[in-house]
Amino acid sequence: MKHKVSHKDIAKQAEILCPLAVTDLDKVPGYEEKPFKPVKPDWKEKYDFSLDGFSALALTPPATKEAEEELVNKFLRGLEKLFSQESNWTFMQPTSLSTDYCVRCNTCNEACPIYVESGRQDIYRPNYRSELLRKIYQRYFTTEGRLLGGFVGADVELNWRTIYRLAELTYRCTICRRCAATCPVGVDNALMNRELRKLFSQELGIAAEGVHKSGSMRHLQTGSSTGMTPAAFLDTIEFIEDDIEERIGRRIKIPIDKKGADILLIHNAGEYVSWPENPAAFAILLDAAGIDWTLSSESMGYEGVNYGTWYDDFQFARVAVAQVQAAKKLGVRRIVVGECGHATKAIVEIADRVCVGDLAIPREGCLPLLEQIVTSGAIKFDPSKNNFPITLHDPCNMVRLMGIVSPQRNVLKAITPPGCFREMPNAGVMNYCCGGGSGFAVMNSLNFPEWRNNVASRMKANQVLEAFKDCLDPSIPKYYCAPCSNCKGAARDSLMEHYGFRDKYNIIYGGLVELMVNAMVDVEKPFISWEDEF
Ligand code: SF4
Ligand code: SF4
Repeated sequence: MKHKVSHKDIAKQAEILCPLAVTDLDKVPGYEEKPFKPVKPDWKEKYDFSLDGFSALALTPPATKEAEEELVNKFLRGLEKLFSQESNWTFMQPTSLSTDYCVRCNTCNEACPIYVESGRQDIYRPNYRSELLRKIYQRYFTTEGRLLGGFVGADVELNWRTIYRLAELTYRCTICRRCAATCPVGVDNALMNRELRKLFSQELGIAAEGVHKSGSMRHLQTGSSTGMTPAAFLDTIEFIEDDIEERIGRRIKIPIDKKGADILLIHNAGEYVSWPENPAAFAILLDAAGIDWTLSSESMGYEGVNYGTWYDDFQFARVAVAQVQAAKKLGVRRIVVGECGHATKAIVEIADRVCVGDLAIPREGCLPLLEQIVTSGAIKFDPSKNNFPITLHDPCNMVRLMGIVSPQRNVLKAITPPGCFREMPNAGVMNYCCGGGSGFAVMNSLNFPEWRNNVASRMKANQVLEAFKDCLDPSIPKYYCAPCSNCKGAARDSLMEHYGFRDKYNIIYGGLVELMVNAMVDVEKPFISWEDEF
């Protein structure tokens, strides 16, 4: 059922503005839907679930009128700063242009997987939250809005419900920028969403626990968002060296803190914790290709994530500068980021705003390097070793924001036999988010994972089923290639666990480098196994 919700409804007193039910959602063939679990009574008593029955932020309603006033005042101060060049020199221009130029054509709506898969709920329209922002700004910061209010469309009242629901709404968007790619006038609703998250974080101290407290804060305190200290990192590298020896029959010494190397490779540290076969595969490939590379054991130098990308300029800048300083200290020629979409965008693109002067060293994603390894002929590959159906997930940050589309395909074509690699529908720049974008993959507060798996990852589930529709029989092993650490996290939690693709269809997931090593002539034993625990 479609719940009609106008903009001004956001302020109204209602237990739940858009009470989402599983029956509202688009279907996933072969998946038996389970009704959403009722909110636990003790959660309900304490936290606000009034947007759609879910909570990503665990917000507690203000206890007094004064506390509500303070909330409103802080929000307004933050809004003013968003549109001030001095306070928001990082993103003010695109935010302001996106605010001014929407022609309300609604083209962006059908591009949004959240809106479509939710049964086209008004509150999830890409331009719903942007329009709220415009209306609030108009009402509180323009003369006609102050004087004429609803007569000129400035009809959104600001109270704690408006603010909390808007805050939650910013965490119902994966910032995939698919909507922006379809807007005929170039409005970027994803950026506006990110800027709203920034307002909430920087001015009201509201941010998702997964990206802030156990993300950026832990990163800055320990050296990695995983909590892995430099000493633990060195232990992990030893473990990976042992694992490589077991897999390929020879030991590779992984270079650490090599001064003056050509490349400092930085992985998303989640790889070391959850998928160590990925950094192992990188080590095998770079060693075999004779590349001059190193890892850094410096705090912040071995962790590629930058969660500030999604919600806070200050946290972003602290992490980006520390990462580049670690590279400077080693005197490497360039930084290459491993298989992680947001980490690539963060350090390669967004860090241009803060890594200037001495800190402006070359920074790249790994996919072009992997393509060079294949085309250079430095390593012999036998495509017949990858003789199973493979489909490719395109991380939004790589394909849509940065235009890195061909290298990963050229690699796959070179290391797979004809007919094994198949594209999913809407592949390339218009691919859909895995459902873990913008921090969703690491956000596990209250009942948010239920929303994420059911709504945000649903389109990806449908895409994967479509790509493998001719070979869904579990007797045929299949590989979902996701060259991004966050996307693998979403694949594990949503596709494998929630939708049961591993058990039901014998689909496993992994990165691109694992497939490359699997095809290496010099590596005798298969590197990829359908027996391993994923
Ligand atoms: S954001 Fe762009 S596509 Fe969406 S309603 Fe506005 S003008 Fe149309
Ligand atoms: S960025 Fe992606 S999830 Fe967010 S509104 Fe746009 S299309 Fe939807």
